[in-house]
Amino acid sequence: IFPEKRLLVTGGAGFIGANFCHYWLQQHPRATLVVLDALTYAGNRHSLAGLEARPGFRFVQGDINDEALVVRLLRDHRLNVVVHFAAESHVDRSIHDPDAFIRSNILGTHSLLRAAKTVWLDDPQGSVPHRFHHISTDEVYGSLSPGDAPFREDTPYAPNSPYAASKAGSDHLVRAYHHTYGLQTTTSNCSNNYGPFHFPEKLIPLVILNILHGKTLPIYGDGRQIRDWLYVEDHCRGIAQILERGTVGESYNIGGCNEWSNLDIVELICAEIDAIFAQDGAWLRRYPQAAPAHGRPSAELIQHVRDRPGHDRRYAIDASKIRKELGFAPQYTFAEGIRQTIRWYLEHREWWQPVLDGSYRDWIARHYG
Ligand code: NAD
Repeated sequence: IFPEKRLLVTGGAGFIGANFCHYWLQQHPRATLVVLDALTYAGNRHSLAGLEARPGFRFVQGDINDEALVVRLLRDHRLNVVVHFAAESHVDRSIHDPDAFIRSNILGTHSLLRAAKTVWLDDPQGSVPHRFHHISTDEVYGSLSPGDAPFREDTPYAPNSPYAASKAGSDHLVRAYHHTYGLQTTTSNCSNNYGPFHFPEKLIPLVILNILHGKTLPIYGDGRQIRDWLYVEDHCRGIAQILERGTVGESYNIGGCNEWSNLDIVELICAEIDAIFAQDGAWLRRYPQAAPAHGRPSAELIQHVRDRPGHDRRYAIDASKIRKELGFAPQYTFAEGIRQTIRWYLEHREWWQPVLDGSYRDWIARHYG
């Protein structure tokens, strides 16, 4: 789009945001990248620890609703790209506390758009080349029945949870800022991600860690809800391709063409962990509470629990637009991605243990004051 991209990454201490920062700085080691993150329960500065020493990297703790702060960051660091991940992201929490979702996802996105417009479009010296990329979800399209065609970019929005509705609202605001004011926006709607740095309230890390602790594996209802899954690094690659070559004003679906029921995923993870423990006894000693350490198959831990209210049955993505226009294709098969994710959790206890017991805030205070 323009030669030097200087990024503001909102929500960069969250799961996908942190993976994106690692990915971007691997591709562009000298790039300027400022993370703005409020460090809610889901934000973890430890996920960025390896990047803090880079000269172009800066972490700022703050809220995207703080418009004056965002204006200052954009101006002071001459930032010309926003990559907007910051959001409340957990559907279950949105059922119990929707207000936080309206505040961060709708009002926060609007505040960010207004700041970008002020700095990039309303400058008396003329507008600045810029790009605002908004990260969204396939959940805005609602739920599919078994034989339905997957979601396309022109599928009507039909969000069912407060989370999905708040993301749909933010998508519409981004679209409106492009059409009304000419802000150079792009949006991507992605399916479920998995991989390193994933907060353990979400299905895949929850299952891995519960197996390691010998705890039950809760499955909502019959476990036959179907989702499309994409390894997080592939999502980051898709976002980078949109930043490089995406058409302004457009939205792109990103997915893995990889539909799995929740129950099948849990059974796959159980089988993979059992196999890893059977091959290498060192894991049995490191995780003595794990089911296989007691000679039990991990799948014995599965327990069905009452279904989530309004639980969507199926999401599936038609990602042909980004494939045809930008040449995007996932590079990881599901089997490779899951194996890599399990290995990452086995090897990074120092990341997840403090998250589980809440002590990572002390760790942050010790390391960053
Ligand atoms: P996450 O919950 O792991 O991280 C969200 C981050 O945003 C956290 O670091 C949090 O501290 C920060 N944050 C929240 N509210 C903020 C605010 N008001 N100001 C500043 N920072 C704030 O989420 P994630 O799974 O990494 O998702 C990132 C984005 O991708 C979200 O917009 C989500 O809707 C979207 N998305 C996620 C998935 C998925 O499978 N996880 C799939 C598609 C789209």
